[in-house]
Amino acid sequence: MTHSRILISDSLSPGVADLLQGAGFAPEFRPDISRSELLGRIGDFHVLLVRSKTQVDAELLNKAAQLKVVGRAGAGVDNIDLDAATHKGVLVMNTPGGNSISAAEHTLALLLGLARRIPLADTSMKQGQWEKKKFEGTELLGKVLGLLGLGKIGSEVSKRARAFGMTVVAYDPYISDKFARELEVQLLSLEEVLARADFLSLHLPLGDATERLVNDDTIQKMKPGIRLINCARGGLVDEEALMRALASGRVAAAALDVFQQEPSTNFGLIRHPNVIATPHIAGSTQEAQEKVGFEIAQQVIDYLRDGVVRNAVNFASISSREFEQISPYLELGEKLGSLLGQISRIRVGEVGIRYYGELALLNYKPVSSCILKGLFRAMGIESVNMISAFNEARERRILVTETSSSRERGFRNLISIQLRNEARMEWVEGALLHRGNLRLVSVDGIGLESPLGKFLLFIRNQDQPGVIGQVGTLLGNNGINIANFTLGRHEERGEAIGVVSTDSPLSPELARKIRELPAVAFAATARLDWS
Ligand code: NAD
Repeated sequence: MTHSRILISDSLSPGVADLLQGAGFAPEFRPDISRSELLGRIGDFHVLLVRSKTQVDAELLNKAAQLKVVGRAGAGVDNIDLDAATHKGVLVMNTPGGNSISAAEHTLALLLGLARRIPLADTSMKQGQWEKKKFEGTELLGKVLGLLGLGKIGSEVSKRARAFGMTVVAYDPYISDKFARELEVQLLSLEEVLARADFLSLHLPLGDATERLVNDDTIQKMKPGIRLINCARGGLVDEEALMRALASGRVAAAALDVFQQEPSTNFGLIRHPNVIATPHIAGSTQEAQEKVGFEIAQQVIDYLRDGVVRNAVNFASISSREFEQISPYLELGEKLGSLLGQISRIRVGEVGIRYYGELALLNYKPVSSCILKGLFRAMGIESVNMISAFNEARERRILVTETSSSRERGFRNLISIQLRNEARMEWVEGALLHRGNLRLVSVDGIGLESPLGKFLLFIRNQDQPGVIGQVGTLLGNNGINIANFTLGRHEERGEAIGVVSTDSPLSPELARKIRELPAVAFAATARLDWS
């Protein structure tokens, strides 16, 4: 496909055009192209490469009669209308992780900056001082670095910290033991990491579960005199609580690259003598910029030459006939995967997916991708998409097995998903009764039948009377309308599972009250309301 015409409409590194030329393409490098010229000419191109300036919106896509691929040099795709692109059959690729090394190195710079108080010593010298005593530092050797989040950046930080002779411990409920072992990182609970860390560095996404994770409460659980680094997202830290902890000395010092509000005007924090502040630059290096340009060019070359799809953020091409057959099951797969991710209590080493009945005869690979996407998103890995899902599993050393059987198990189609590790296993099964009617039909081998509604409450309890009444009363008293209440039980094991579908989400407070009911052994809420 070297006849494919490629337009680069943003300022990617000029080397990118050379790389494409070397591969036999003749890209047009037009970083200054105006919007009106772009609208007039986009119809001539098969590939569009952008950074963040070009708005790839519905208006542009509608004029792009021949466009096959949009490549974004960078992670976010805010400037691309993904729905419109998918609708037009245009593959969108990005380069997640292109700045991971830069972010990891900045974290190390801040770590050393904190240990040796370099910015303050520099300021003092610039003021004509020579304060050797004041700036006595701390060695890293033998100190404990606690990482919250051991993904792309956290794992790179761990390797570098190990080279300094630090002991690295991490809290990340969603990565496999094997992955951590390979990094020589000890996986611990959040409380244990907080209690053991001399330095604590955040590398997890911002979401409902992680917002203000560093707060008055969690700071109390930290080792007194801890040093904190945040190169992830500002919202992970309650800045007021941090100010209090710096004032009391509970937190000895903090290095922050990201802030609750950006640009930050929290000068009380920024100017605090024990704070090192940088303006969200952890991922900004010349190399990272070049790398994302080269990465996207190489991805486009691989796609055009060999049909290899990497880091696509929307749907990969399967034949339209196959897509038509399989598309009703995509939602079932994603919802089951997400549900399992939200209610499961195990560290995943393996995901086993089995298709039954008519599904066994179809190209079910896209359903597996949706299952993994739902699962990983529920685990807080927001950057994952359908196309990157298998790769994400590989990188986390999570083994994915897919099997099928044309045998029908009470339903014309059935998807069974198991999460396993060496010690335990949890699983859910679901079926599509007819289009749009999705059912959860068993949990851990206990049969039940519940609609996969938007808001679910999942309960495990000992099989005893009264549970429905107690839960129902609590929900009713708190104004939560029950759409469906299903109970399944395993007589021999004396276990029962309840799934309540509600019209609105439960507050964390109400979920806590349900957990505290004597008859309830375990309760978790799940939201399946993204579509
Ligand atoms: P990643 O998705 O590779 O890793 C995130 C890790 O956090 C995953 O392993 C996930 O399992 C874990 N996680 C999710 N929820 C968790 C929870 N509740 N508790 C503990 N661990 C949890 O992401 P990444 O590329 O390593 O990025 C990490 C963070 O750094 C993100 O917030 C990202 O936005 C930020 N980032 C900042 C900059 C910058 O310039 N400052 C640059 C790049 C990325």
